[in-house]
Order: sequence, then C-alpha cells, then structure tokens
Amino acid sequence: MKILCVMGARPNFVKVAALYRAFAKCPEFSVKLVHTGQHHDDAMYRVFLTQLGLPDPDYSLSIHGGSHTAQTARIMLAFENVLASESPDMVIVVGDVNSSLACALVAAKEGVPLVHVEAGLRSGDKSMPEEINRILIDQMSGELFVSEELGVSNLRSEGIGPDNIHFVGNVMIDSLVYCREKASELSVTTQLGLRKNAYIVMTMHRPSNVDSSEDLMLLVALIEAVCKLRPVVFPIHPRTKSNLIDKGIWHRLETIEGLHLLPPQGYLEFINLTSNAELVITDSGGVQEETTFFGVPCITFRNSTERPSTVGEGTNRLVGGLNVANAMHIISEVINGEKKPTSLPALWDGFASDRIVQIIKKKYLK
Ligand code: UDP
Repeated sequence: MKILCVMGARPNFVKVAALYRAFAKCPEFSVKLVHTGQHHDDAMYRVFLTQLGLPDPDYSLSIHGGSHTAQTARIMLAFENVLASESPDMVIVVGDVNSSLACALVAAKEGVPLVHVEAGLRSGDKSMPEEINRILIDQMSGELFVSEELGVSNLRSEGIGPDNIHFVGNVMIDSLVYCREKASELSVTTQLGLRKNAYIVMTMHRPSNVDSSEDLMLLVALIEAVCKLRPVVFPIHPRTKSNLIDKGIWHRLETIEGLHLLPPQGYLEFINLTSNAELVITDSGGVQEETTFFGVPCITFRNSTERPSTVGEGTNRLVGGLNVANAMHIISEVINGEKKPTSLPALWDGFASDRIVQIIKKKYLK
C-alpha cells in the first residue's frame, strides 16, 4: 500500500517522524514523504530530520512565505502534480497548518483516501487560522485519529460517523517518549549557566501575540518583569524575531538582564530545556502537551486551547492575551505555590502511531 505523508512546519516533523517509524515496521506499507517547504531552513526543518531520524523527503515542494491564500494555493498546485505522478492509495496529513489543509483538499478532490492525524481538536476560536484548517480537514477526511478524548465528541457533534473516528492517543508524545533519553544526556542547561528547576522557558509566535507593535511592547514588558524573578530562556521563533526587528523593538530585548535570547532550538535541546524548567510560558500548541507529559507547569497566553486535557488533567493554565499584571500574579503563584496535582491524558503513552498503523492495516489491507 502506497502512502503519501505530508509535512510542512516544525510541529509536523515531530508528528510525522513517529508515524514514519511505526509504518517502517510493516513491510506492507511504502511511505513517501512530501515536504511542502512551509518551514525550510536548518533551525526549523533540517535539524528535525536529523534528530528524529527522518530521511530526506521524496518530494520537496519548496513553497514558503506569501499570504495564507497564496501559500495554500501554491501548495495545492504543486501537490496535485505529486498525486498525479504517484497515484497513492492514501494521503496522511497531520495537525493544522496550511500545508495540511492544502494537501487534504487536493486529496479529497482527487478521491484519494484521506487520513487526518490529530483530528477533532477545537479551540472554538475561528480567528485562529489553525482552527479553520482543523474543521475543514476533518470534514474531508475518511479516517480521523484523535489525540485526546474530547476530540471524539467534537467530531461527533460535527456529524462525523463513529466508524471513522479512532481515539488512539498522541503521536507528538510518541516522539517525546522516543527522544527523551537522548535529550536528557545533553547539557544545555549547564552550558547556559543555569540550574535545573530554577529557570523559565518561553516560546511565543502566534499572530494574536506577536503581530502588533502593542502586543510586542507588552511581550517585552512581560519578559522584563519575569526576568526579575528567574532567568528566562527564550528560543525565538523567526516570525516573532522578524516582527520585533521590523517594528524597531528588537534592541530592547538585547539589554534585558537574565534573558537568554536563543535561536530556535533543535528538538532534543528544546525538550532538554523544557523538561528541566521550573515553568514554561508559551502560546504553542505542542508545548502545552509536552509540558503536561513532563509534569512541568505551563502558562499559556491564549484565551482558549484546542488541547483542553492539558488544563483539565495536565499542568497547563490559560491566562488570556498579554496582560502583564495578571500574568505576573499567576506566574508568582505558580512559582511560590503548591504544584497542582496532575495526570497524563489517556493513551499518551508512546504507542499512538502503532495503533494508527494497526487500524489502517485492518481496514485497508484485508
Ligand atoms: N520546538 C523545538 N524548538 C524550539 C521550540 C519548539 O524543537 O525552539 C518544538 C517543540 O518541542 C514542539 C514543537 O516544536 O515539539 C512545537 O512547535 P511550534 O510551537 O512551532 O508549533 P505549534 O505546536 O504551536 O503548532
């Protein structure tokens, strides 16, 4: 059975690596990788192939930049050619980025069976580009693999039949389980002169937090305030960095005492940093899940999350948009207070990808 697996942006590489490993155990499957090019440089792409053991993709579409519409349309056109030359039996898309939507649309239009891994997540906030992508991909997919229980009822309430929905756990956690030992051998913390459990990691890249000058000024004020409490390690996303530079705010970060401003980190380095942190501050989707897995407190600068199990069961707390006073109140509470008792969401055990492969095998290879 020939499968095309699509990956476009940083979190996709982490998810696809887990799937790729699981399919490689079954000789009945031949998986070809398509990289759209959404993230394409060493720090946001190459390092993930190397560290996660992914081979070079079979197809590199080299499409990046441009508006959401232009990017989606260009990926669709390029992926249409790939489908025509490969005639695969199945297309798999993961997550919620534009690459996933674009390729899902082409597969659906061409009548190729479509699989969505990480289906059913809903933030309820359609101002997030990812939320629109999630809803549309799920409506087009024939098999929907769900990472947390609420995803099943979200999909049922959108009219998707129970036979197409499979609660299998979280492929992102598969990669984390696979890599954590290797990551724990690194000495990133020591190299930065930091003590374990005595620093804060920050990531921030959502348009709602880093696109306007006002929000970027609030972000700088927040970092200044947090650095008075603890050293902060901030591996900065390229979009956040270029916005700070374009708006003339970058230099303010460079002078903050206690701030370790780093380029985007490799996967192993990053999970080494987060697993040893006292607290993580983020607006990332994946980081909310990884901190829950590690039991490290996480504060998320968003009004809603499509990953509610990280709040209900895990270590995550939502604090809304960038409001420095409110955030500092909560950060002090987390640092000085009792750790809230947490547990791991069901099936976040490192075997989600194997379950996916077994289900596809049973349904499609009779
Ligand atoms: N990540 C990384 N290096 C970094 C920041 C994040 O390897 O400097 C990893 C992180 O461990 C997670 C993924 O990137 O696996 C999350 O990606 P991102 O936050 O860009 O996307 P989102 O999850 O918000 O869609």
